[in-house]
Amino acid sequence: MLFQDKVVLITGAAGGIGIAAALKFEEEGAKLALVDLSEEALKKVAGSLKGEALLLPANVGEEADVKAFVDQTVAKFGRIDVFVNNAGINGEFKPIHEQSIENYQRVLNVNVIGAFLGLKYVLPVMYGQKSGAVVNTASNGGLLGAPGMSAYVASKHAVIGLNKSAALEAAPYGVRVNAVAPSGVDTAMMRSIETNAAKGHEAEARKAFEDAVPLKRYATADEIADLMVFLASDRASFVTGSYYRIDGGGAAMSA
Ligand code: NAD
Repeated sequence: MLFQDKVVLITGAAGGIGIAAALKFEEEGAKLALVDLSEEALKKVAGSLKGEALLLPANVGEEADVKAFVDQTVAKFGRIDVFVNNAGINGEFKPIHEQSIENYQRVLNVNVIGAFLGLKYVLPVMYGQKSGAVVNTASNGGLLGAPGMSAYVASKHAVIGLNKSAALEAAPYGVRVNAVAPSGVDTAMMRSIETNAAKGHEAEARKAFEDAVPLKRYATADEIADLMVFLASDRASFVTGSYYRIDGGGAAMSA
Protein backbone atom coordinates (compact mmCIF):
# COMPACT_ATOMS: atom_id res chain seq x y z
CA MET A 1 0.00 0.00 0.00
CA LEU A 2 1.27 3.45 -0.93
CA PHE A 3 0.34 5.24 2.32
CA GLN A 4 0.51 2.61 5.05
CA ASP A 5 0.23 4.51 8.39
CA LYS A 6 0.85 7.84 6.68
CA VAL A 7 -1.21 10.81 7.84
CA VAL A 8 -3.26 12.53 5.15
CA LEU A 9 -5.02 15.84 5.80
CA ILE A 10 -7.73 16.79 3.28
CA THR A 11 -9.72 20.04 3.09
CA GLY A 12 -13.03 20.21 1.28
CA ALA A 13 -13.27 16.59 2.42
CA ALA A 14 -17.08 16.48 2.38
CA GLY A 15 -17.24 17.51 -1.29
CA GLY A 16 -17.10 15.29 -4.35
CA ILE A 17 -13.34 15.28 -4.95
CA GLY A 18 -12.52 15.35 -1.23
CA ILE A 19 -14.62 12.27 -0.48
CA ALA A 20 -13.10 10.38 -3.42
CA ALA A 21 -9.62 11.33 -2.19
CA ALA A 22 -10.41 10.25 1.38
CA LEU A 23 -11.59 6.84 0.18
CA LYS A 24 -8.57 6.30 -2.11
CA PHE A 25 -5.99 7.37 0.50
CA GLU A 26 -7.69 5.13 3.07
CA GLU A 27 -7.59 2.23 0.62
CA GLU A 28 -3.82 2.81 0.42
CA GLY A 29 -3.46 2.52 4.20
CA ALA A 30 -3.58 6.18 5.28
CA LYS A 31 -4.85 7.68 8.53
CA LEU A 32 -7.18 10.54 7.70
CA ALA A 33 -7.83 14.04 9.05
CA LEU A 34 -10.80 15.57 7.25
CA VAL A 35 -11.71 19.26 7.11
CA ASP A 36 -14.93 20.81 5.85
CA LEU A 37 -17.41 23.48 6.92
CA SER A 38 -20.00 21.25 8.55
CA GLU A 39 -19.50 18.53 11.12
CA GLU A 40 -22.67 16.81 9.95
CA ALA A 41 -21.35 16.53 6.39
CA LEU A 42 -18.02 15.19 7.68
CA LYS A 43 -19.84 12.57 9.77
CA LYS A 44 -21.57 11.34 6.60
CA VAL A 45 -18.18 10.94 4.92
CA ALA A 46 -16.84 9.13 8.00
CA GLY A 47 -19.77 6.71 7.66
CA SER A 48 -18.48 5.55 4.29
CA LEU A 49 -14.91 4.94 5.52
CA LYS A 50 -13.65 1.58 6.77
CA GLY A 51 -11.69 3.00 9.71
CA GLU A 52 -11.89 6.09 11.87
CA ALA A 53 -10.97 9.58 10.76
CA LEU A 54 -10.27 12.77 12.67
CA LEU A 55 -13.14 15.11 11.75
CA LEU A 56 -12.28 18.80 11.78
CA PRO A 57 -15.12 21.22 11.03
CA ALA A 58 -13.45 24.48 10.01
CA ASN A 59 -13.47 27.38 7.58
CA VAL A 60 -10.23 27.34 5.56
CA GLY A 61 -10.52 31.12 5.08
CA GLU A 62 -10.19 31.77 8.83
CA GLU A 63 -6.64 31.75 10.16
CA ALA A 64 -7.61 30.62 13.68
CA ASP A 65 -9.56 27.66 12.22
CA VAL A 66 -6.65 26.59 10.02
CA LYS A 67 -4.12 26.81 12.86
CA ALA A 68 -6.52 24.78 15.03
CA PHE A 69 -7.08 21.98 12.50
CA VAL A 70 -3.37 21.63 11.80
CA ASP A 71 -2.58 21.61 15.56
CA GLN A 72 -5.31 19.02 16.20
CA THR A 73 -4.00 16.77 13.43
CA VAL A 74 -0.46 16.92 14.82
CA ALA A 75 -1.73 16.41 18.40
CA LYS A 76 -3.62 13.27 17.31
CA PHE A 77 -1.17 11.70 14.83
CA GLY A 78 2.18 13.41 15.51
CA ARG A 79 2.78 14.30 11.85
CA ILE A 80 1.29 15.21 8.46
CA ASP A 81 2.62 13.28 5.46
CA VAL A 82 0.20 14.47 2.81
CA PHE A 83 -1.86 17.64 2.56
CA VAL A 84 -4.64 17.77 -0.03
CA ASN A 85 -5.34 21.53 -0.14
CA ASN A 86 -8.64 21.17 -1.90
CA ALA A 87 -11.52 23.26 -0.48
CA GLY A 88 -12.96 25.65 -3.04
CA ILE A 89 -16.05 27.49 -4.22
CA ASN A 90 -17.10 28.76 -7.64
CA GLY A 91 -19.02 31.88 -6.58
CA GLU A 92 -21.45 33.78 -8.81
CA PHE A 93 -20.90 33.97 -12.54
CA LYS A 94 -21.34 37.39 -14.10
CA PRO A 95 -19.36 39.57 -16.50
CA ILE A 96 -16.71 41.66 -14.75
CA HIS A 97 -18.70 44.87 -15.10
CA GLU A 98 -21.56 43.29 -13.14
CA GLN A 99 -19.42 41.57 -10.50
CA SER A 100 -19.70 42.63 -6.85
CA ILE A 101 -16.67 43.08 -4.66
CA GLU A 102 -18.41 40.79 -2.13
CA ASN A 103 -18.42 37.89 -4.60
CA TYR A 104 -14.76 38.48 -5.44
CA GLN A 105 -13.82 38.63 -1.77
CA ARG A 106 -15.80 35.46 -0.96
CA VAL A 107 -14.18 33.45 -3.76
CA LEU A 108 -10.66 34.77 -3.15
CA ASN A 109 -10.99 34.23 0.60
CA VAL A 110 -11.71 30.52 0.22
CA ASN A 111 -9.73 29.64 -2.90
CA VAL A 112 -6.63 31.81 -2.39
CA ILE A 113 -6.43 32.85 1.27
CA GLY A 114 -7.69 29.39 2.26
CA ALA A 115 -5.03 27.66 0.15
CA PHE A 116 -2.35 30.05 1.46
CA LEU A 117 -3.33 29.51 5.12
CA GLY A 118 -3.26 25.73 4.69
CA LEU A 119 0.28 25.95 3.34
CA LYS A 120 1.31 28.47 6.01
CA TYR A 121 0.45 26.04 8.83
CA VAL A 122 1.11 22.64 7.24
CA LEU A 123 4.49 23.34 5.61
CA PRO A 124 6.35 23.98 8.91
CA VAL A 125 5.14 20.58 10.16
CA MET A 126 6.51 18.93 7.02
CA TYR A 127 9.74 20.98 7.22
CA GLY A 128 10.26 19.63 10.75
CA GLN A 129 9.85 16.07 9.41
CA LYS A 130 12.02 16.80 6.38
CA SER A 131 9.36 15.04 4.32
CA GLY A 132 5.86 15.48 3.00
CA ALA A 133 3.82 16.11 -0.12
CA VAL A 134 1.17 18.71 -0.87
CA VAL A 135 -1.43 18.50 -3.61
CA ASN A 136 -3.17 21.81 -4.30
CA THR A 137 -6.44 21.69 -6.21
CA ALA A 138 -6.26 24.28 -8.99
CA SER A 139 -8.46 23.97 -12.09
CA ASN A 140 -8.28 24.39 -15.83
CA GLY A 141 -9.68 27.78 -14.78
CA GLY A 142 -6.16 28.33 -13.40
CA LEU A 143 -4.79 28.08 -16.93
CA LEU A 144 -7.52 29.46 -19.19
CA GLY A 145 -10.02 32.30 -19.15
CA ALA A 146 -13.78 31.77 -19.03
CA PRO A 147 -16.39 34.48 -19.57
CA GLY A 148 -18.41 35.21 -16.44
CA MET A 149 -16.04 33.20 -14.25
CA SER A 150 -13.34 35.82 -13.68
CA ALA A 151 -13.38 35.57 -9.87
CA TYR A 152 -12.94 31.79 -9.96
CA VAL A 153 -10.44 31.98 -12.82
CA ALA A 154 -8.36 34.65 -11.04
CA SER A 155 -8.42 32.61 -7.85
CA LYS A 156 -7.25 29.42 -9.54
CA HIS A 157 -4.50 31.24 -11.48
CA ALA A 158 -3.37 32.43 -8.04
CA VAL A 159 -3.35 28.83 -6.78
CA ILE A 160 -0.99 27.86 -9.63
CA GLY A 161 1.36 30.73 -8.65
CA LEU A 162 1.15 29.83 -4.98
CA ASN A 163 1.89 26.22 -5.90
CA LYS A 164 5.08 27.18 -7.76
CA SER A 165 6.40 29.48 -5.03
CA ALA A 166 5.57 26.98 -2.28
CA ALA A 167 7.37 24.21 -4.20
CA LEU A 168 10.54 26.32 -4.45
CA GLU A 169 10.44 27.21 -0.75
CA ALA A 170 9.74 23.60 0.25
CA ALA A 171 12.30 21.84 -1.96
CA PRO A 172 15.28 22.35 0.40
CA TYR A 173 13.31 20.51 3.10
CA GLY A 174 12.54 17.51 0.90
CA VAL A 175 8.87 18.51 0.72
CA ARG A 176 7.09 18.32 -2.66
CA VAL A 177 4.24 20.59 -3.78
CA ASN A 178 2.14 19.99 -6.89
CA ALA A 179 -1.27 20.90 -8.22
CA VAL A 180 -4.03 19.22 -10.17
CA ALA A 181 -5.89 21.26 -12.78
CA PRO A 182 -9.13 19.47 -13.68
CA SER A 183 -11.74 20.53 -16.19
CA GLY A 184 -15.38 19.82 -15.26
CA VAL A 185 -15.72 17.09 -12.64
CA ASP A 186 -19.06 15.44 -11.91
CA THR A 187 -19.59 16.89 -8.41
CA ALA A 188 -21.84 19.44 -6.68
CA MET A 189 -19.60 22.20 -8.05
CA MET A 190 -20.57 21.38 -11.66
CA ARG A 191 -24.25 21.35 -10.61
CA SER A 192 -23.73 24.89 -9.33
CA ILE A 193 -21.84 25.90 -12.48
CA GLU A 194 -24.60 24.48 -14.71
CA THR A 195 -27.19 26.52 -12.79
CA ASN A 196 -24.99 29.61 -12.95
CA ALA A 197 -24.62 29.13 -16.72
CA ALA A 198 -28.27 28.44 -17.58
CA LYS A 199 -30.75 28.48 -14.69
CA GLY A 200 -33.69 26.23 -15.56
CA HIS A 201 -31.76 24.63 -18.44
CA GLU A 202 -29.15 22.71 -16.49
CA ALA A 203 -29.36 19.52 -18.59
CA GLU A 204 -28.65 21.50 -21.77
CA ALA A 205 -25.79 23.32 -20.05
CA ARG A 206 -24.32 20.00 -18.96
CA LYS A 207 -24.56 18.60 -22.47
CA ALA A 208 -22.85 21.67 -23.93
CA PHE A 209 -20.04 21.50 -21.33
CA GLU A 210 -19.54 17.78 -21.93
CA ASP A 211 -19.67 18.13 -25.73
CA ALA A 212 -16.82 20.65 -25.51
CA VAL A 213 -14.53 18.02 -23.97
CA PRO A 214 -12.72 15.75 -26.49
CA LEU A 215 -13.63 12.72 -24.34
CA LYS A 216 -17.25 14.02 -24.33
CA ARG A 217 -17.85 13.81 -20.59
CA TYR A 218 -16.95 15.25 -17.21
CA ALA A 219 -14.20 13.63 -15.16
CA THR A 220 -15.29 11.52 -12.23
CA ALA A 221 -14.10 12.56 -8.79
CA ASP A 222 -12.29 9.20 -8.61
CA GLU A 223 -10.20 10.10 -11.66
CA ILE A 224 -9.03 13.30 -9.95
CA ALA A 225 -8.35 11.44 -6.69
CA ASP A 226 -6.21 8.89 -8.57
CA LEU A 227 -3.97 11.71 -9.83
CA MET A 228 -3.79 13.19 -6.32
CA VAL A 229 -2.75 9.83 -4.89
CA PHE A 230 -0.03 9.48 -7.52
CA LEU A 231 1.33 13.01 -6.96
CA ALA A 232 1.36 12.54 -3.18
CA SER A 233 3.07 9.15 -3.38
CA ASP A 234 6.75 8.22 -3.57
CA ARG A 235 6.12 7.19 -7.18
CA ALA A 236 6.21 10.94 -7.91
CA SER A 237 9.40 11.46 -5.88
CA PHE A 238 11.04 13.75 -8.50
CA VAL A 239 7.86 15.69 -9.25
CA THR A 240 7.50 19.09 -7.61
CA GLY A 241 6.38 22.59 -8.60
CA SER A 242 4.23 21.21 -11.40
CA TYR A 243 0.57 21.35 -12.22
CA TYR A 244 -1.19 18.51 -13.98
CA ARG A 245 -3.99 19.06 -16.41
CA ILE A 246 -6.69 16.41 -16.18
CA ASP A 247 -9.13 17.61 -18.77
CA GLY A 248 -10.20 14.85 -21.16
CA GLY A 249 -8.01 16.37 -23.88
CA GLY A 250 -9.34 19.94 -23.62
CA ALA A 251 -5.97 21.68 -23.55
CA ALA A 252 -4.87 19.84 -26.69
CA MET A 253 -7.29 22.06 -28.64
CA SER A 254 -5.34 25.26 -27.90
CA ALA A 255 -1.76 26.37 -28.58
P1 NAD B 1 -17.69 20.34 -4.06
O1 NAD B 1 -18.52 21.57 -4.04
O2 NAD B 1 -18.35 19.02 -4.13
O3 NAD B 1 -16.70 20.33 -2.80
C1 NAD B 1 -16.08 21.46 -2.27
C2 NAD B 1 -16.03 21.28 -0.76
O4 NAD B 1 -15.32 22.38 -0.19
C3 NAD B 1 -17.45 21.30 -0.14
O5 NAD B 1 -17.64 20.16 0.67
C4 NAD B 1 -17.47 22.58 0.66
O6 NAD B 1 -18.26 22.52 1.83
C5 NAD B 1 -15.99 22.75 0.99
N1 NAD B 1 -15.71 24.14 1.32
C6 NAD B 1 -16.12 25.25 0.64
N2 NAD B 1 -15.72 26.35 1.29
C7 NAD B 1 -15.05 25.93 2.39
C8 NAD B 1 -14.41 26.61 3.46
N3 NAD B 1 -14.40 27.95 3.53
N4 NAD B 1 -13.81 25.88 4.42
C9 NAD B 1 -13.85 24.52 4.38
N5 NAD B 1 -14.43 23.83 3.39
C10 NAD B 1 -15.03 24.52 2.43
O7 NAD B 1 -16.71 20.52 -5.28
P2 NAD B 1 -15.47 19.64 -5.77
O8 NAD B 1 -15.63 19.48 -7.22
O9 NAD B 1 -15.24 18.48 -4.91
O10 NAD B 1 -14.31 20.74 -5.56
C11 NAD B 1 -13.09 20.47 -4.90
C12 NAD B 1 -12.03 21.35 -5.50
O11 NAD B 1 -11.87 21.03 -6.88
C13 NAD B 1 -12.32 22.85 -5.46
O12 NAD B 1 -11.14 23.56 -5.12
C14 NAD B 1 -12.71 23.17 -6.88
O13 NAD B 1 -12.48 24.52 -7.22
C15 NAD B 1 -11.83 22.21 -7.64
N6 NAD B 1 -12.25 21.92 -9.00
C16 NAD B 1 -13.48 21.40 -9.23
C17 NAD B 1 -13.89 21.16 -10.53
C18 NAD B 1 -15.26 20.63 -10.85
O14 NAD B 1 -15.67 20.69 -12.01
N7 NAD B 1 -15.99 20.04 -9.91
C19 NAD B 1 -13.01 21.44 -11.59
C20 NAD B 1 -11.76 21.96 -11.32
C21 NAD B 1 -11.39 22.20 -10.01
